[in-house]
Amino acid sequence: MINIKELNNIVDSCRQEMIDDIIKMNSIPSINPRMGGQGEFERFEWIEKKLRSYNIGYKVFEIKDEVVPQGIRRNITVSFKGSEDTRKTLWFIAHVDTVNYGDISLWNTDPFKPYDDGDRIYGLGTEDNSQAVIEMLYICKIMKQKCIIAKCNIGFIFASDEETGSRYGLHALFKENIFSPSDEAVVPDGGSSDGCFVEIAEKSQLWIKFTVKGKQSHASMPQLGVNACSAGMHLGVVLEDTLKEKYNYIDELFNPPYSTIELTQKFANVDSPNILPGMDQFVMDLRVLPKYDVAQVLSTIDDIIESFDEVNEGIKASYELLTRVEAPEPTNPDAEIVKKLVSSISETGRSAYLGGIGGGTCAAILRKHNIPTVVWSTLDEMAHQPNEYVLVSNVINDTKIFLSTIVKYC
Ligand SMILES: [Zn+2]
Repeated sequence: MINIKELNNIVDSCRQEMIDDIIKMNSIPSINPRMGGQGEFERFEWIEKKLRSYNIGYKVFEIKDEVVPQGIRRNITVSFKGSEDTRKTLWFIAHVDTVNYGDISLWNTDPFKPYDDGDRIYGLGTEDNSQAVIEMLYICKIMKQKCIIAKCNIGFIFASDEETGSRYGLHALFKENIFSPSDEAVVPDGGSSDGCFVEIAEKSQLWIKFTVKGKQSHASMPQLGVNACSAGMHLGVVLEDTLKEKYNYIDELFNPPYSTIELTQKFANVDSPNILPGMDQFVMDLRVLPKYDVAQVLSTIDDIIESFDEVNEGIKASYELLTRVEAPEPTNPDAEIVKKLVSSISETGRSAYLGGIGGGTCAAILRKHNIPTVVWSTLDEMAHQPNEYVLVSNVINDTKIFLSTIVKYC
């Protein structure tokens, strides 16, 4: 019988070691190569060294990528074999790449010199997703130390390339056939600061860039041109109003509980106030509830554009999709991992609740393959922001909750 209290004490005793590791690991840049970095290679070397020091075996999956100096991107898996059902694996998945630091003048400290102010450690990627990398390393260490064996396999994935779509990470691992249909997964890469929110669903995501063409002329002689700026603004309003009215279903599982349809980016048109623009471009960001079919939404947009062109002489509107991610089926709230994680969270006195978000995590990839997946962690949502930090207390407490979840599989 595994004693949870003893496990919690072990985690507490690791506090200083965890802080030192967060600082050491985050001093090694790991910026995604398609975001201007050199990739994750060196940080993986550090992670491997750590696993070797714990005497834990691991597998390396090298995926070719000419963009990085080494020519390959790494992914590492660790597996603790189960005692009964070895066809099933409960996976914990973290990503090792980070985004770029953005505008350096907005950082109060060097993003590559993690700064510990007591409970917060500031630095690029400390929360996204080093928090999970460190938690997983310590879970591995403690499982090895205490010989924790679950009924199913317990697996850990340290992945590359999450920030630009997981092509060299999770997608590539699916081609390596490491997953089985009975697997489940935990992705500690999103959550809330009270640690109560357990994500089991997401919306479809569309980024649509509209181009409206008219005819340029002098602004004082509008009869000689066709004003694309005016037409574009009208079209934007029509699109927003029509789509919001038509796709207005409320699903309380989600925050917010409706599909979001927002006009966002605008592009520069002409250089001076007296030119009547011949072209207007803008972007819409849509997060559509899984109840709706993305193709249906796009056909509504086609209809709007067609009738808009009809009533506006000389105007030709079109669009391109910058992003199209269709929401997979939500994870079943009755899945074993959902119930066990929720009960582990609840045992710490918090009232966990299930919900959905606007999308964009690698959980979608797993759910597409019918693997029940929860996204959960306790964090202040500092990802991709200057002065990103991780709370050491969250690292400690989430490690305890994951361990107690694993014990429920024993
Ligand atoms: Zn992340």
